Order: sequence, then structure tokens, then C-alpha cells
Amino acid sequence: MIEYGVAPGIHLVSQANVNCYVVEAEDGITLIDAGLPRMWHEVMEVLKTRQRLPYEIKALVLTHGHFDHLGFALRAQQSLGIPVIVHHDDARLAANPYRYATERNRLLYPLGHPRSLPLLGRMAASGALAVKGVHGVQLMTAGSVLEVPGFPVPVHTPGHTDGHCILHFPDRRAVFTGDALVTLDPYTGQTGPQIVAGAATKDTAQAISSLDAIALTEADHLLPGHGAVWSDGAEAAVEAARKVGRH
Ligand SMILES: [Zn+2]
Ligand SMILES: [Zn+2]
Repeated sequence: MIEYGVAPGIHLVSQANVNCYVVEAEDGITLIDAGLPRMWHEVMEVLKTRQRLPYEIKALVLTHGHFDHLGFALRAQQSLGIPVIVHHDDARLAANPYRYATERNRLLYPLGHPRSLPLLGRMAASGALAVKGVHGVQLMTAGSVLEVPGFPVPVHTPGHTDGHCILHFPDRRAVFTGDALVTLDPYTGQTGPQIVAGAATKDTAQAISSLDAIALTEADHLLPGHGAVWSDGAEAAVEAARKVGRH
């Protein structure tokens, strides 16, 4: 599914409740996260509709290294020759997207949360089980502007993974929250602003602390890795996520 203009110059591509985004700027295009492998075609469709060309894509920036944010990363890296940019602490994860530690075993988790089974099944249909790792990534430094179209500022928000970063586009009052704050948890099926359940989060207490960094952006538009875009402001979303708390 494609939604155009979810925030200024920003388009959402989603499949199986996994989101990735196309950010248009005058000097080129930045992709945020790489979703699941089959979402590549929809990204190309966005470009076509917007009358932009694939060579205008200058970079793919990852909020973190989980498989469901890495779907077409290798393809973009190889076919467009663009840098794939990730925080240092998630570079190993991006190379081995299925090998990660979580608080609870994610394979057993759906048994306790039967609502998550159809969601995970749809992810598999979009290629979730065949994601290839990326090597030779470019590392980003939290707190300094990335020299890619739109000039996002990565802010380190560890907890979900060690190297998780939100990507703040101050000019657009928009922040990509990845899985530091989602509006749908694919593991439990629960909707509304929240952190991701312990099944897929490395350190829940740290993930809750990292919500502060999201509130501090004071962004209007929150663009999460899973679930609907939130346009009622960062502070309200963080407040709601804190109420949900830990799973
Ligand atoms: Zn994740
Ligand atoms: Zn995710």
C-alpha cells in the first residue's frame, strides 16, 4: 500500500504492517528503512508517480538492523550503488539480520499472543524469511546532520536494538521513529503508540528511557516502523506509549 504525503514530501510504503518511506528533496531522494523484499516494487511505483528517477535516490538510511527493515537494502545497494547508512552498534545486525538477542524467544512468543500469527504470516508472504544481510555499510554518528537529501539528524535511541536511531527531519517537523515507538506492534497486534513487545526488543527499560529523545524532537509527524503515521505531536505519542509501558 502507498500513502502519498504522510508528512511534507514524505511517502509511506507498507506491506504486512511493515513501513518504509520515500523522502523527496530537490537535490534527490532518501529512503528510510528497506521494509520487506517485495516492497521494492512499490518504492519504484512511488518514484514513477512522482516523476522521479531511480538514480535520484542518494541513500538508504536504516533506523536499525532488524530483518523487517532491511528487505531490499542489498538490492538498493547493488543496483543503485547507494550507501546504506546505519549506526555502528547495529552494523553487525544488518549483516546478519536473523541473529539477534531479545528478552524473550520470539519464536515461542506468538503462542501466547495468537493475534500476532496472521500478522507474522503476512510478513512471510512479503518475503520476510528471505532477507539478505548487507555488508560495507556507511556508519552514521548520532547528533550530526547526515549529508543526504533532507538532511536528517540521527538521534541514538537504544533499547529495541543497541544501535537504534530515530531520524529527525527538523525542517519538516517529522521524525522517523523506527521501532523505538510504533503505533502497531506486529508481535501482539496491539495498536496505538507504544514500544515494541519484549519478544523483539533487546532491553525494555532502555527502550522506555529512549522515548525521551522522541519527545525532545517536538516533531508534529511521527513516522513509525509499524502502524499508522501519527500527526498529533511527539509529546502526546510518547505520553501514550509510557502509559502502555512494559509488556
Ligand atoms: Zn525492529
Ligand atoms: Zn520492525
